[in-house]
Amino acid sequence: MIELTNPSIASLGGLFPTIYGRNLIGELANFVHRPFLVVTMEDLWERFAHHFDGAVAQPYLVTTIDGDELEREVAALPPCNAIVGLGGGQAVDVAKFFAWSLRLPLFQVPTSMSVNAPFGHRAGLRFGGNVRYMGWAVPQAVYVDFDVIQSAPPLINRSGVCEIFCYHTAHADWRLAHVRGKTESKWPFDEALVAEAKSVLDLVMSKLDDIHAVNEEGIRTLMNANRWGGAAFHNAGWNPRHIEGIDHFLFYALEYYTGKKFIHGQPVCLGIYAGSLLHGERADEMLEAIHRVGVDIRPEAMGISWDDVGHALMNLSGFVRQAGLWYGIAHEATITDAFVNRLREAVTEKFGS
Ligand SMILES: [Zn+2]
Repeated sequence: MIELTNPSIASLGGLFPTIYGRNLIGELANFVHRPFLVVTMEDLWERFAHHFDGAVAQPYLVTTIDGDELEREVAALPPCNAIVGLGGGQAVDVAKFFAWSLRLPLFQVPTSMSVNAPFGHRAGLRFGGNVRYMGWAVPQAVYVDFDVIQSAPPLINRSGVCEIFCYHTAHADWRLAHVRGKTESKWPFDEALVAEAKSVLDLVMSKLDDIHAVNEEGIRTLMNANRWGGAAFHNAGWNPRHIEGIDHFLFYALEYYTGKKFIHGQPVCLGIYAGSLLHGERADEMLEAIHRVGVDIRPEAMGISWDDVGHALMNLSGFVRQAGLWYGIAHEATITDAFVNRLREAVTEKFGS
């Protein structure tokens, strides 16, 4: 447990109650306020519907994370007394949004380790194609079921390391902004916050093979790390500086320019490696870690091309300004064809073509 092995972690008070075990979905019908709404995805509902009696629970199948569309959806929901989020990032974010809109108790059941969304207060919705974190939902508990997590595709589970590896590039960006005198006045550089995040990163770095294997040790390590990270934005006073930087900015740009849906960890891990190269900080080590856990960051593995990646990178400085994102290497690096080629060669050498 992070709590026991990392006494330097200071902000434990703001973390969500998190329970590990088995048959946790089967218990929900025994204690969640009835009738309740299960916010999930179509394929997951087919798998798990037998755990819920139709009299106590109804499904809401997520098809959008567009905030304006979801506001209209709220008005059409059936009467219910609690919300259960069952799924990956989209289902738990929509569950948060409904719980917040209707002021209902929330129970979260992540079915994979893909993102830290189950452990964060706000929902990452899209407005006009741009991400916006909104709402407020503290769940009664987050239930991490080992069997359920282990039944998710390994790539999806392993890709969750992006949410922790990105602290590396976030810290490099914050330091750079500090050196340049470009930190935002509300977010001056804070060495203690950086050290706290780094202790979580170091712990995950020490368990890469367990995370690759998705064994119980790997699940506890990555989910405890995401538990810290999911709440970190709020717990640092709505400051994302120590947990996010160019890593996620490249993902947002790729999503914006290609209009594609991604497994979060693939473009974010590509952003972590690209950002580490631009900063000249531990790039080889980060690429090795990404490879060892098993997150394939080749564009072709995420349904896009190197041209798409090159386009997003070369337009990144304009994109981050337009999106109002915080200052870092994305704002000032001159990205050339030569850089994109260097990135391509290193990724291809590591992962094969
Ligand atoms: Zn993320």
